[in-house]
Amino acid sequence: MLFKDIPGLVALKNTLIHSVNVNHVAHAQLFHGGIGSANLALAWAYATYINCEDKQEGDACGRCASCVKMSKMVHPDIHHIFPTPSAKETILELLPTWRKFLLESPYRSLTDWLEFTGVTGNKQGIIPIKEAHNIIEKISLKAFEAEYKILIIWQPELMNIESANSLLKILEEPPAKTLFILVCNDTNRLLTTILSRTQRIVIPAFSDDDVIRYLTEKEGVDTARAKQIAYLSEGNLSKAAELVNYEGESKHQWFANWMRMAYKPDLVTLVKLADEFDAFPKEYQKGMMEYGLNIFRDLLLWKNGAEALVRLEGEELTFVQNFSKAVKINAIELIVNELSQTYYYLERNARAKILHLDLSLTIARLFKR
Ligand SMILES: [Zn+2]
Repeated sequence: MLFKDIPGLVALKNTLIHSVNVNHVAHAQLFHGGIGSANLALAWAYATYINCEDKQEGDACGRCASCVKMSKMVHPDIHHIFPTPSAKETILELLPTWRKFLLESPYRSLTDWLEFTGVTGNKQGIIPIKEAHNIIEKISLKAFEAEYKILIIWQPELMNIESANSLLKILEEPPAKTLFILVCNDTNRLLTTILSRTQRIVIPAFSDDDVIRYLTEKEGVDTARAKQIAYLSEGNLSKAAELVNYEGESKHQWFANWMRMAYKPDLVTLVKLADEFDAFPKEYQKGMMEYGLNIFRDLLLWKNGAEALVRLEGEELTFVQNFSKAVKINAIELIVNELSQTYYYLERNARAKILHLDLSLTIARLFKR
């Protein structure tokens, strides 16, 4: 992974590169970014740059022995700690799977990873204590080839108190030329003692333009669809990729048809749509609710005269314009509430068909107010 492989974030990349060039690399850093952000990809690119034997202006060379090993994730001086699905699997056993996962895409979530391991059953994700401890110990040995030994800890939130303490111990007296990069989503779940010993690097979400560029260039998505996905994914590349993979009717068409049927109301079709909804993948069901929330929020802006803030185009814009004439403000507010409640229940695995039909009937009623 090179910096240039990661879309956008120019200023942040420059800061990281500068820290290496002026020899100001903090020995413990916390790459903090939301789910689907560049936090892990940047840690990987940063480690590649640090150990590159022929650093170029603004990036690693990508060709030297170190860069080649880094690109395959087989560099002997880079260590990884990541969660395993349960206490039964070890980091060492899962390392080849971890490599494959990262090489496919470094923007995915913990849930994606746990699914990728193929381990079935109840998976929460844990960082095995003993193994984490051994890896942390191992890092105090001298580097094999590179100038720096680097330990990348993904999801340090999942370290229990024992692992966190062995990490703390080494952070207090770090071995020379050793770099710890903690890649996290949620700093609230880290020990304050760990927070205070790391330099925090805040990684912003990708911009819509970054997401559009990534989808068009790397995923071969056409611009119109990329724009729609960027709007829905709010800078989360993991979510954007998931939306690309779902080859169905466009979300807007399905949603718009649903709303028209609720407006009529056409009860026979609403029952049929509840069945269709029930058959969607769960993430897609949740995505439909989020999409509805975005549209109704825009509808609210439109009704309140803030048309300039509505960023929709084409069919979606027409939809908002038409519905803004037909639906009252307080009904829209109530519908927004209903949609977010349904999202909440979907997340907790309530039966999608019943939820959807209930929601359709409520919306039909609210449309008539
Ligand atoms: Zn290189």
